[in-house]
Amino acid sequence: MAGASALNVVVRPEGRPALMAGREVMRLPAAALGVILVDHECMRCVVAVDVGGTTMKGGLITQDGTILYAERRPTPRAEGPAQVIAAISAFVTDLARPRTLDDAQVRPEAVGLAVPGLVTPQRALYSAALGWKDVPAEAFTDVALPVALGHDVRAAGEAELVYGRAAVRAEPPAGHVLFMPIGTGIAGALVLGGSLYGGAAGWAGQIGHVPVWPDGLPCSCGQRGCLAAYASASAIASRCGETSAADVARRVRAGDPRAVTVWGEAAEALALALATYTLLLDPALIVIGGGLAQAGDLLLDPLRERLGDRLTFRPAPMVRVSGLGPDAGLLGAGLLGFRALPRL
Ligand SMILES: [Zn+2]
Repeated sequence: MAGASALNVVVRPEGRPALMAGREVMRLPAAALGVILVDHECMRCVVAVDVGGTTMKGGLITQDGTILYAERRPTPRAEGPAQVIAAISAFVTDLARPRTLDDAQVRPEAVGLAVPGLVTPQRALYSAALGWKDVPAEAFTDVALPVALGHDVRAAGEAELVYGRAAVRAEPPAGHVLFMPIGTGIAGALVLGGSLYGGAAGWAGQIGHVPVWPDGLPCSCGQRGCLAAYASASAIASRCGETSAADVARRVRAGDPRAVTVWGEAAEALALALATYTLLLDPALIVIGGGLAQAGDLLLDPLRERLGDRLTFRPAPMVRVSGLGPDAGLLGAGLLGFRALPRL
């Protein structure tokens, strides 16, 4: 997994685009190599790292959300939290080195780290997945650059708002959005009145552990009947004896009865949890991200139908898949990095 895995061509029209005006990026497959910068100015950028349970995604991100460089490395979770922190620090050091990409000088100015668990801009307070407790932001880097931490899902949600498809930004009221990545687990970034909401202590958004079935299937959190026990990609896969939800999706399309049942229960569980969220907080838009979003209409069609059926006296919010896909967390980490700069 180590080594460069994805690079982008930067396409710029005449003149500089307005800050945050949108992403003028043409994406290439992961196998593509090479970076072409049409704009040869020294580009402002930050180091961004999105730390996941199995993979760390790192990159250099510009103010307008262009990924100048991207690389994936494994997260050495099995070796303990100290090794994970050391691996993040080494990754940041490598990414922060001044470099020339094509003819452009690239010198990152700050570091943004998106991490799971309970986190403040200055400290990673707790992560069950990675095993650390109360780690100051400075422990994650050896470079002399300002650094900011943020919650991985909330950072990804903010990236969806800033860089995601135009509908997320433009359709009113855009300030009321639930961004919900579905992967190994399920979590939500709550945008309420235009602001990301973290709750009293940063625990908000644990929609994956909202019970959807009394005394239902056991969940890794210790509760029973959680949404994640039915609708996370890992739960869907394991309930069908598969290694990935994509394998289950293939069986659903082929009409396999067990896969159809499990998929239907996942859609029902999601509809229940999202109906609860909708009744409580009235979002205009729900954006599904993470690996399960790749199922597209196979997931969205039954989810929209069941959510609409459950909401009898009010319209259902729009439900869409993420416009940024797996880059959302990395771009969110970039936003954190720019926030660490004093002048931005
Ligand atoms: Zn749970």
